[in-house]
Amino acid sequence: MTTYEALPVVNPATGEPITTLPAASADDVAQAAERARSVFDAGVWSRLPIRKRAAVLLRLADLMERDAEILARLDSEDAGKPITECRTGDVPGAIESIRWFAEAADKVFGRLAPSGPEGLGLMSREPVGVVAAILPWNYPLAMAAWKVGPALAAGNCLLVKPAEATPRSALHLAALAAEAGLPDGVLTVLPGYGFEAGAALARDPLVGALSFTGSTATGRRILKDAAESNFKRVSLEMGGKSPQVLMPDALDYGGELIGNMIEAAFLTMGQNCTAGSRVLVHHNIAEEVLERFTAAAKELVIGDPADPRTQMGPLINRAAFDRVAAAVEAARAGKAQIHTGGLPHELPPRGAYYPPTVITRAPDGSDVLTKELFGPVVTVQTFTTEDEAVRMANATEYGLAASVWTRDLDSACRLARGIEAGVISVNAYSEGDITTPFGGWKQSGFGGVEKSTNAFEQWTREKTVWIRTR
Ligand code: NAD
Repeated sequence: MTTYEALPVVNPATGEPITTLPAASADDVAQAAERARSVFDAGVWSRLPIRKRAAVLLRLADLMERDAEILARLDSEDAGKPITECRTGDVPGAIESIRWFAEAADKVFGRLAPSGPEGLGLMSREPVGVVAAILPWNYPLAMAAWKVGPALAAGNCLLVKPAEATPRSALHLAALAAEAGLPDGVLTVLPGYGFEAGAALARDPLVGALSFTGSTATGRRILKDAAESNFKRVSLEMGGKSPQVLMPDALDYGGELIGNMIEAAFLTMGQNCTAGSRVLVHHNIAEEVLERFTAAAKELVIGDPADPRTQMGPLINRAAFDRVAAAVEAARAGKAQIHTGGLPHELPPRGAYYPPTVITRAPDGSDVLTKELFGPVVTVQTFTTEDEAVRMANATEYGLAASVWTRDLDSACRLARGIEAGVISVNAYSEGDITTPFGGWKQSGFGGVEKSTNAFEQWTREKTVWIRTR
């Protein structure tokens, strides 16, 4: 195999190889798309009564429950995510997602136009046909489930390209789907490289819709490829630089506030699209917040992701480590203050561990303030007025998420209205639940197209049928 025919999967906690998989080529993608098209046209899935489709997906959710521990371990080993996070967050969330979309499938109705007596205008939602999903490595199974659930429930045939580093949970998901009775060719997982298999999906003329979660730079390329091929419908979920806004009374929430701030900043080692990587705090409480927040960050248990006590594992690879370290060093050189408790001594030397880091007095315009670092690094800035807080919150090209802390309902509503982001949580760090839409604004994406019944809009097309009545 040449370099790009093989896909090595490496454990980021140790730097040791886990396995090597064959990487899908552009030809493999084209063949999979052709096969998916013929399966779609045969109607074995697309024309199956919706209740029967739902039954297969509900069986899939049950099998995921049976194999929950296997799925948790696959994501933990491939991505370096703490096993407890996978057991309590990613895997139950993925199961819920498959189950929810199975149950929702026959509850999404078409529309009837308010036409006059001369005609009946019926608008129905129909599957797109062959569709594709391109996934990131930070929530491998969870992101797969957000897309597999609604795409299959709507009757499509789906091609999934997992991220290079984390292909194994998606492959296991596909095996479970086959066991649940999903016909061959309805769900095809294509592990491979972005520039080869990913780009081939973005350009494939048979793929009618593509849902992407990943970086803004890749989203831009995919949109271009879609425009230059068949204008496939693209939905994009991309990066973020999300603010956590703390008003003067935020400390009324005490330990709950600090716990949420820690989760927002350091969940999945900060490699989280909605990471609250910019703390904006009212100057009256800044000193106390900084003290309590940095103390809590230093207490985080850093170690082997397989150990259930571990709260922070390694970054995804050494390149990510180098990128994060360079941005922090540049901030230090610019006279920023770096607050960190460092790393424990006993970590494997080849693991890509980076300590939780809080930065104050970062120079204006520095990378730590403006770029998505995708690591456990948080900046703290102060403000004096609500207007200033909104201006600072919006001073980014991203608009994925934000959280706002205050007991003052009027202030919370003004902040929630003023901040330009797709998902805003008040007195919590939260992305909502499966019933609420998720998605970013500005360069974070195309708005709330994941989760909730909105997700069906990604994976269906509306058709108008006009029946002349006499
Ligand atoms: P990435 O953009 O490097 O890769 C994402 C996927 O795109 C991978 O499967 C990759 O192989 C593929 N890809 C790369 N080049 C491609 C190309 N030219 N054509 C088609 N596909 C290509 O992102 P990543 O490093 O895997 O993930 C981290 C990013 O994902 C961060 O920016 C993060 O904020 C974002 N993210 C966003 C959300 C969200 O819902 N908004 C959720 C999770 C992660």
